[in-house]
Amino acid sequence: MLAKTPSCVQCGLPWGAPAFRHEDDAPLYWSDTGLLCSGGCAQKHFEKRRAEGTFVAIPAECPVEV
Ligand SMILES: [Zn+2]
Repeated sequence: MLAKTPSCVQCGLPWGAPAFRHEDDAPLYWSDTGLLCSGGCAQKHFEKRRAEGTFVAIPAECPVEV
């Protein structure tokens, strides 16, 4: 369980906002650094991570306990 209310690591949209994509209580997109609100943010985030050389190919565990 995360200590703080999570928000999108790409655009900062808070978890629970209407535009935050999720299925029931589980997020649909995330990386090893946090949640992502949408497919678009996930794509941008992973492009940035690839450019930085910090991209992790193995899917991270979902950071939110459901
Ligand atoms: Zn976002």
